[in-house]
Formats: sequence, structure tokens, C-alpha cells
Amino acid sequence: MSHLKEIPKVDRLLADPLFQSLISNHPRPAVVKAIRTVLDQIRTEILSGSFGKNTCEPAVIAATVASILDSEASCSLRRVVNATGIVIHTNLGRSPLPQGIIQQLTDIASHYSCLEYDTVTGERGERSSHVEALICELTGAESALVVNNNAAALLLALSSIAKGREVIVSRGELVEIGGSFRIPDIMTESGSTLREIGTTNRTHLKDYRNAITQDTALLLKVSCSNFAMTGFTSEVEVGELATLGKQAGLPVLVDAGSGAFMDLGQILGCSATTVQNYLQSGADLIVCSGDKLLGGPQIGIVAGSSRLVEPMKKHPLLRALRVDKMTLTALEGVLRIYRDKRRALTEIPTLRMLTMSEDLIAARGKKIIRLLKRSSPEGLDLTLLKGNSMVGGGALPQLQLPTRLIALKSTQLSANEIEALLRSAPTPVIGRIAKGVFLLDIRTISDDDLPLLASAVSRVC
Ligand SMILES: *Cc1c(COP(=O)(O)O)cnc(C)c1O
Repeated sequence: MSHLKEIPKVDRLLADPLFQSLISNHPRPAVVKAIRTVLDQIRTEILSGSFGKNTCEPAVIAATVASILDSEASCSLRRVVNATGIVIHTNLGRSPLPQGIIQQLTDIASHYSCLEYDTVTGERGERSSHVEALICELTGAESALVVNNNAAALLLALSSIAKGREVIVSRGELVEIGGSFRIPDIMTESGSTLREIGTTNRTHLKDYRNAITQDTALLLKVSCSNFAMTGFTSEVEVGELATLGKQAGLPVLVDAGSGAFMDLGQILGCSATTVQNYLQSGADLIVCSGDKLLGGPQIGIVAGSSRLVEPMKKHPLLRALRVDKMTLTALEGVLRIYRDKRRALTEIPTLRMLTMSEDLIAARGKKIIRLLKRSSPEGLDLTLLKGNSMVGGGALPQLQLPTRLIALKSTQLSANEIEALLRSAPTPVIGRIAKGVFLLDIRTISDDDLPLLASAVSRVC
């Protein structure tokens, strides 16, 4: 207990030249707060009996205070290296933006812009006008609108079209997307009433037809983007639903989830319905995300018939869901790239990573192993294995993309220890562990990640 008396006073520490130099680099209140934190830790250590000999030395305290101040001064939202092989990784920020649009982003972010100003007439303009025509051109929609994300798009669409009335949805499509986004909950928030039909595995056109009453406002179809049903299943295609909708005078809304603007089916060997397909099949309205298969910023796109979209532009909720100028700049940049499909496949990172050939991945894998061996020669065993990457972001859940993995083994460290070391690097590297081995997936590691990866891996030696 007597050790408690050895804890220096805050004032005495502040007068010490070591701390004076910290104060010249950091705000004084921050230094004081960090000192108090360290002194509290020392007090706890003393009381628990785990008290080191030099703990109360000003130099030791100053070093701990300096490391607290440094970590407080660095940004919390930082770049990481995604070596998980999950291309659209929601926890890691979903889609990285194309390099080619970054200059425009910087310009708009740091200067004034014509966000809501029409430079032709000199009058007030509309912020989403910068992207609406492009969305219509690319999807064939009559009208379009953008909001904060797809959840917001769905909320706005339901509130605008079905408030106080019924929305018919198949029981097989009452999905949860993650982050507690659930279709029934969104519907409640929108003020519309869920009318469930069919069963979990099978829903037929007659189920929709029989549920229609004069309270019905909308037929909703939710793309089951983050799971797959197999076996004895049946769902009603958008085309059939659209025919029914026309007969009954009811609009059909499709939550297209991942929002593909390009048919990746041929390249990936799977079917992913594009937004264009949904509209061509007769859907009156679609909503989708901007940062999933589209490969753009976080945004929700609403596209379809003017009769439904135009009232949404005047809806009071829109102001609460509106998009900021940097996001709009990024979206416009990405949509412009889509005007040339070949450019889209090479310049949009999400599409580039998804469609990267196995041969290219294998060649990059060899190159990356050579690089890592050069910077971390000792104590590491690096081998290239075959494996599979995932699309992620609740898109194409069944699709396995053949990839190469670097298995990283050490004689001294366990897979969990390697994982923790790489995760705590200045630029964290996030991989995965399978069957007790730490793995880096080549597909999602970009070329400009390589120096950061090498320096993180060198920590393991
Ligand atoms: C991802 C997803 C959403 C939510 O989209 P956010 O842009 O994340 O809000 C909604 N519906 C479906 C079907 C989805 O896949």
C-alpha cells in the first residue's frame, strides 16, 4: 500500500521538461487527461499487487503518455488491407472507389460547387439532377432519385406509395439484411401494413392474386440477395408479377438489393439479374444499393416510372434521407464509367476484383510471395494454396470464385497470434483463419496495398 505515496502529482509531472515537450506538441488538456489515465492505471496496479520497480519514474510515465497522445491523434477511421477475399465486405467499407474519380472528389470536397445551382439559367437547381439522367440512361428507367442507402430508398418508396395501406410480400422474401435491417420492420416504419403470402419455400401467382383487396397499394418483390433456397421451392418471377399488377392496377416494386448495372453472369458463370432486366420485365420501380455490385459509394437508387418517382421527390422524408455532395460526386463519376462497359470492368475495383481471372490471381500470388519473402526472410513459411473468394455484401451468396491464398505459418506463433499482429499493424491487414491456418486471399489485395502488406507481415518475424 505504501507504494501509493510514490505516485507523482500531476503538477509535478507537468513541470518536468519531458512533459513540457509533450505540451508543445499536444493540447495541454489532452496531456493532463492522458497523465491522469496513466496514474489511474498505476494506482490499480499497486492495489492489485502487480507493481513494477520503475513504474513511477517520470520517464516511464512520459513514454506511456506519449503513446496515448499519439494514438489519440491518429484517425480512427483508417485504411486497411482487405485480404479476406470477400470483395464487397460491409465491415471493411464495401466498394473501394475507382482511382480515376478521386481528383474530382477532392475538387468538389474542398471547393464550392454547383450542387444546387443551374449554371445555365442562374437559378436554383436540384442536387440529384447531376446523376438522375445517367441512371435513366444506364437502366432504361423513366425517372430516378438517389437517397442515403437502399434501406432509405425502400423506406421512402413504401412511405410514398403505401402508407396506411397494404403491401403484399411472399413469406420467402421477408429477409433480414444484417445490421438489423428487416423487411417487416421497414414496412412498419413506413406506415404500411405487411400482407404476407405463400410459405417460406413456395409462393405462387395465385397467392398474390388472392391477397389483393381494395386496401392493397403495392406488390413487393425482394431479391434474396444474401441467402439461397434450394430444393422444393417456387417463387413468382418479376415478369408474371408485373402482368398481375397491370391487371389489378397495382404497381410492382422490386428491392433489387445489390443493384447490378452490368450482366456479370457470363463472366462469373451465374445469374445476377440486372436493374435493367427488372425494369424490362415490367417492374414499375426498383430500389438498390450503390456500394454493392454497382461498385460505387454508399447510396440508395430509386428508378422506374415517373408516376411513382416524381411524388417521392416532393416527399417530406426526402430531406432527411438526402445525399451529400461528395457521395453524389463519387456516384456521378462511377456512373460515367459505366457508359463504356469495357472501362467499367477494368476501372471499377469491385468489378475488376470480381472478374479477375484465376491465372492472373495465381501469377500475382507468386509475385506477392516473392515480395514478402524478401522483406521477411526469417521464421516465416509462405505457401500458395487454391481456395475460394466470396462476393459478399449480400450478393450472389452461392457463388464461389476460385482464388489463391497465401498460407502464413510461423514456427513461433499460432494462427491467432499472427492474425492479431497483422490486425494491429499501422495499416491493419485483415485475413482469415481456416483449419488453424492464417490465410491471405490474393483477390482483394490491390497492388498499392503491397508495401503496406509487406511491412505488416515483417512484424510477424
Ligand atoms: C443490402 C440490401 C439492402 C440494404 O441496402 P443498404 O444500401 O445497405 O441500405 C436492402 N435490401 C436488399 C435485398 C439488400 O440486399
